[in-house]
Amino acid sequence: MAQVRPKTNEARSKIVATVGPACLELETLVELVNHGVDVFRINAAHGKQADFESVLGKIRQVREITGFPVAVLLDLAGPKIRLGQLVQDPLEVEPGAELTFVRGEEADEPHQLCSNYHRLIDEITVEDRIMLADGTISLQVTKKTADQVHCRALTTGTVRSRQGINLPGVTLSVSAMRPEDVENAMWGARNEIDFISLSFVRSPQDVLSLKNLLGSLESNALVIAKIEKREALEQLEEIVEAADGVMVARGDLGVEIDVAETPVAQKRIINVCRDKLKPVIVATQMLESMHHNRRPTRAEASDVANAILDGADACMLSGETAIGMYPVQAVDTMDRIMVHTEQLLKGQPSSGQVRVFDRVHPITSAVTHNAANIAESIGAKLVVVASRSGGTVWVKSKQRNFIPTLGVSSNDTTLRRMCLFWGIMPHKCPNIDSPQQLAEEISLWGRERGMLVAGDRVVFVTGTGVIDHTHNLLVVHEVEG
Ligand code: PEP
Repeated sequence: MAQVRPKTNEARSKIVATVGPACLELETLVELVNHGVDVFRINAAHGKQADFESVLGKIRQVREITGFPVAVLLDLAGPKIRLGQLVQDPLEVEPGAELTFVRGEEADEPHQLCSNYHRLIDEITVEDRIMLADGTISLQVTKKTADQVHCRALTTGTVRSRQGINLPGVTLSVSAMRPEDVENAMWGARNEIDFISLSFVRSPQDVLSLKNLLGSLESNALVIAKIEKREALEQLEEIVEAADGVMVARGDLGVEIDVAETPVAQKRIINVCRDKLKPVIVATQMLESMHHNRRPTRAEASDVANAILDGADACMLSGETAIGMYPVQAVDTMDRIMVHTEQLLKGQPSSGQVRVFDRVHPITSAVTHNAANIAESIGAKLVVVASRSGGTVWVKSKQRNFIPTLGVSSNDTTLRRMCLFWGIMPHKCPNIDSPQQLAEEISLWGRERGMLVAGDRVVFVTGTGVIDHTHNLLVVHEVEG
């Protein structure tokens, strides 16, 4: 099969697609990548390590078939509280219905509810609100005894065993990671997973506990903090600082806070990430109606476009690719919306400021910044940034410049990291140390793919090796005839 990606006209914004029964066929996964998926998400809330293992095996095959270093994000369920086993399942709830939370993970009576969090009864108080069924059912706590919490339903809906429970505004003492999260993170570390996200982050310490665990396992995985609780919004700056990237997890966020507040929260989260130079993914219900339809609603198309205009680095598809009827069409649609929307960003001037970034030497930042300016002023067709750890391409990505940019590396982990960096096309080069050799190799590669023709200018950002861990060399190359 001819290598389809990277291609210069693909979206600069990245696409994260959740893997599930709808796309488990190898052929479908290949199609998803060829239509624009940059990162596959394995949702650890569903399935066991044997399932993740099998998905990962297929993704590795997809990399071989497509030649594209598609990355993997392992999404840890975190301290998600769920209902236990109900007697009546499903249980239809009407406004005014009296329901009682009891201890243990199995209910004894039809009107009883129970959960997988054994301190739940101790930590909720009268007047608290409990949300079930993705926020459709709202319960008000009316009375509490030593072993029971009595609630009254305010809305109608269907309750099922093991549904998620949201407790807006309730401070829980549950730890940031459950034993299964630790096990799954260890699995991720052993299997060279690129990004590991943590659900229900409440504080920077939650992020650091996952980072410390991964550090102790010598894992290179980048940690993504999922923002889906009011407590996280209260410490947003510190959490973004602690994390390597962020996900606006609108599914739970829209239940934990008033859904009316989520659009503004999304914009604030994106702005903080832009300010702190961290990649940010906008997630959940982006093309929701494409579960069952080949076309999205106008509102969904606008939602993707607005996330891009706000400054998101990536958008995520959840059920659309995992269980929907049209996974490939959903990816294709998202990619097309991104490409069209990005035209509007082209006119926007970049800040002109060299941003200081703690992972990257200031010389590297200055050289990378000016490479883009030079490339623009001479009408270069391509910028090529050589990178060992991905730090330099991260800087380039955050400049939001539209000249097609190849992030080149000999390191597969680094190449996969680039899959989340806006505007960066990852490309493997065995030798990035010799600027001359790199220029020759890229010229040949670009000409073979019709990306470059004789006379085209290419700007290379590399290093001389004189200053350690620094990119201090900027080379302008003209493709030979
Ligand atoms: C979300 O809540 O938006 C989200 C992405 O997390 P999950 O899919 O695990 O609920």
